[in-house]
Amino acid sequence: MSIYHDEIEIEDMEYDEETETYYYPCPCGDRFEITKEDLQNGEDVAKCPSCSLMLKVIYDIDDFMEGEEVPATPKIELEKA
Ligand SMILES: [Zn+2]
Repeated sequence: MSIYHDEIEIEDMEYDEETETYYYPCPCGDRFEITKEDLQNGEDVAKCPSCSLMLKVIYDIDDFMEGEEVPATPKIELEKA
């Protein structure tokens, strides 16, 4: 059982390409953080290193699955009548 401080969409987080980490401001003044690797592993909890608050990250894991072929919905070509 987990209690989250908040739920936030990945689009609203700040991405640092150098550390490959997503950040979001924490009320304590520090920042929640979750790495791209965490997201690829299905982890969706960003933690603040300075306090015990947690943030639930809403994202589509398929967007982070690199190197793994995600089967695309086959396009059905409609035949011209
Ligand atoms: Zn904090």
